[in-house]
Amino acid sequence: MSDITANILSYSLPELESLVLSMGEKKFRAKQIFGWLARGAASYDEMSNVPAGLRRNLAENGYYIGQPEVVTMQESKSDGTRKCLYEFCDGARVESVFMKYSYGNSICISTQVGCLMGCTFCASTMDGKQRDLTAGEMLGEVLKMKRVTGEEINHIVLMGMGEPLDNYEEVSKFLKLINSPEGVNLSLRNITLSTCGIIPGIYRFAEDFPQVNLAVSLHAPNDEIRRRTMPVARKYGYDDLMKACRDYTEKTHRRITFEYALIRGVNDSPENAEELADHLKGWLTHVNLIPLNEVKGRDYRTAEGSSVLAFRKVLEKRGIAATVRRTLGSDIDAACGQLRASAER
Ligand code: SAH
Repeated sequence: MSDITANILSYSLPELESLVLSMGEKKFRAKQIFGWLARGAASYDEMSNVPAGLRRNLAENGYYIGQPEVVTMQESKSDGTRKCLYEFCDGARVESVFMKYSYGNSICISTQVGCLMGCTFCASTMDGKQRDLTAGEMLGEVLKMKRVTGEEINHIVLMGMGEPLDNYEEVSKFLKLINSPEGVNLSLRNITLSTCGIIPGIYRFAEDFPQVNLAVSLHAPNDEIRRRTMPVARKYGYDDLMKACRDYTEKTHRRITFEYALIRGVNDSPENAEELADHLKGWLTHVNLIPLNEVKGRDYRTAEGSSVLAFRKVLEKRGIAATVRRTLGSDIDAACGQLRASAER
């Protein structure tokens, strides 16, 4: 594997300051470089107010600006969604999706190359996990997308390939980097992290990042159904997960979002909706219903439109906020769960 530790995008401002000082330069140069990186500079040559000697020194000592290469970029004809297949310097490939909403532009980034979690309806996990992404690589996904689209990015969702709470240290470093006032300065409230339900990670996350939005991929009204599609449910049971989520809302006073992919004949009946409502009534939640995106090589079918509506109606009748997620980018396989960095696409 190539030396990913020298990706300068992984450096926090204090780390960059130490580096610059160690090269015999003034500390304030670090702030200049940090600002250039956050504005998307892809080479030291662009950093016109940084002395040429320092720029050369950084480059010659192997500190590279680790924005990924764009292997392919597809644009949806219907809604302007763009999907990038990126490649990092060791050849690892991940996907990232840019979406336009009425409330602003959003990017969905990957946190790992592949995924270990093994959800049976998801494409990202088919080849297992190759490796974690570093904080600088996640930042690189965002900066590169800004550069190739020429658009601002107002929201970030950690819902691409990978399980963010299975890469806690780097994800946490990424959140601090992107929120840094001298850098991209994106509010933590404009970021959402989605997890398949790693309970210790949820407690840690509530402690460390109470301002970041949390989404939990539930996809079932009970343990038995959840275990059929999500291996993680065998490790972390339904009741414990519900308790962790309730503790999260009590600690942070933030509403939690439950993602629920509706799979025909698996979890989409009105009885399933009733059982889900039993768990969620009376606390600060929101259910995001996602008609399953069918994935090649997986047998599951998406729920019928009438079942989706009926499911939502039951939840609403029981006083539980529920929306049906607008499917963006389905003509370019950019929809949830369809990201897959393998070569066959
Ligand atoms: N590992 C994290 C984040 C990545 S997946 C998690 O599990 O939450 C982002 C969301 O897409 C999750 O809710 C995931 O369950 C969902 N998803 C995966 N495959 C899907 C599919 N084929 N159709 C709809 N949603 C899917």
